[in-house]
Amino acid sequence: AEAAGTAVVWFRKGLRLHDNPALLEAAKSGAKHLCPVFVLDPFFGPKFVGPNRYNFLLDCLRDLDQQLRKRYRSRLIVLRGRPQEVLGKLFQSGKPLLAAKPRLIVWEKDTEPYARKRDAAIEKLAKKGGVEVHTFSGHTLYDVDEALAKNKGSSPTTNNGMQSLAKALGEPAAPRPAPGKLPPLPPAASGKAYDVPDLKKMGYKSSPQTYLKGGETAGAARMTAMLKKTKFIRTFRKPQTRSSAFDPPDTTVLSPYLKFGCVSIREFYYGLKKVCSGSNHSKPPESLLGQILFREMAYLMGASIPNFDRQAGNPCCKPIPWANNKKLLAAWETGRTGYPFIDASMRQLTRVGWMHHLARHAVACFLTRGDLWLSWEEGRDVFDRLLVDADWSLNNMNWLGLSGAAPWSPPFFRVYHPVPKMDSSLNVKDPEGKFIREFVPELRKMPSKYIYAPWTAPKEVQQAAGCIVGKDYPKPIVDHETVCKANLERFKKALAAARSAGGQKRKASGSASS
Ligand code: FAD
Repeated sequence: AEAAGTAVVWFRKGLRLHDNPALLEAAKSGAKHLCPVFVLDPFFGPKFVGPNRYNFLLDCLRDLDQQLRKRYRSRLIVLRGRPQEVLGKLFQSGKPLLAAKPRLIVWEKDTEPYARKRDAAIEKLAKKGGVEVHTFSGHTLYDVDEALAKNKGSSPTTNNGMQSLAKALGEPAAPRPAPGKLPPLPPAASGKAYDVPDLKKMGYKSSPQTYLKGGETAGAARMTAMLKKTKFIRTFRKPQTRSSAFDPPDTTVLSPYLKFGCVSIREFYYGLKKVCSGSNHSKPPESLLGQILFREMAYLMGASIPNFDRQAGNPCCKPIPWANNKKLLAAWETGRTGYPFIDASMRQLTRVGWMHHLARHAVACFLTRGDLWLSWEEGRDVFDRLLVDADWSLNNMNWLGLSGAAPWSPPFFRVYHPVPKMDSSLNVKDPEGKFIREFVPELRKMPSKYIYAPWTAPKEVQQAAGCIVGKDYPKPIVDHETVCKANLERFKKALAAARSAGGQKRKASGSASS
């Protein structure tokens, strides 16, 4: 049959050419023209997204555009505005981008609530315009809806449970290469107006500080380099990786690439399997395969637990009466709590947009049940703005867990000590405090003996180090031992109150299991 019409490939996450089911489908759809589109949605902008994370997205778009040009003599068309409006217009007449409305639009499924709502609206608009819609699963190992259906509609809440479900689902689909050929761009789809903008144009005043560079090319290079480190992969045990390692970190730092879909999770999965097959290797939950099963589980939770991103109305979040204190929150966010390990980690978050998993544990516990007694939702929002790998499902699952309020939380009374030498589970292996000196320059000259607890240094030592605690670097904003004890009591009380309220409710509704 003669090629006809235009197929639009709507990129959102999945910012890659390889193992991209939607792109492959559009390539063989019989369309005469193919138009790769990304819509810069104002919802994702300076108010909610920091410069590191936004620039990483722009890197991804630049890379995608360059690859489309090089491999297929095509390009990426960047549109700006609410997708409902921008694509709605396209479905009516094709204008101003196309001579006529497209025949087909394809995209990768996204199971976050914002995306589900947006995509349902777009689908409706497409139908109204007589435009076909095809969607594909590609961001997770399994199709989230199929995996949930297999598990009777609910998500596992343990890594063991996730392993069993994965077994029942069988091996994920094998990754596929990029299309060999793409139909040409529609003639009208050209011009500088559709180029990838820079950060300034998008309303950002500050520049990105991170060394992390976005895009499929950078992601593929990192993944290939990691998969070559066969001993690292076979012996990987997450709790044994050092939270203080930053140059380079002790884990893969593939998270930003997985988040934006610059690398394919299925390609990573099969790469890991290949390295491990036929040799001794670590096992889930501690192994790298275990880590990506945590990722999978987060998506299943996010897609099936109502109000997953808040305490109110979330059946998996116990009601804890967190306090409200903007001053404490700001001290935590800017790395001025007076606890150097917490502060270095938070400043690494601002500067690099990435933090080791155990450092995330430490700062999240400190903000919530451990020390500051502030809501996990506030910490989650800070992470969401500053992490380059910020991911709605992963971030919420982990914050819920660390707050102590979720069924998958560690016991709420197991609190991290903000001075790492008091807590070996943080796995800080940095007796000289290189990590602290890098991210908290005020403490650069503090002798190693005091680097994690500078308030204990004698005045002469502080003077000699050019850092007077209370003047050049804050005193601890709370006394850990005192607040921690009080918080545990508060937590216990809140749990007891929730239990008795639950009992009363059951009695009132006559549904007690008597
Ligand atoms: P590796 O150890 O190399 O793991 C490989 C991949 O497995 C990761 O890239 C990630 O996709 C997945 N993974 C690893 N740990 C977890 C986990 N605990 N839960 C789910 N998936 C995991 N990760 C994010 O990608 N985005 C977030 O917004 C995010 N927020 C977090 C918030 C808190 C409070 C905590 C405690 C953890 C959070 N994590 C988040 C999970 C984890 O810390 C990061 O995925 C990991 O540190 C990223 O580094 P890596 O790629 O080197 O990890």
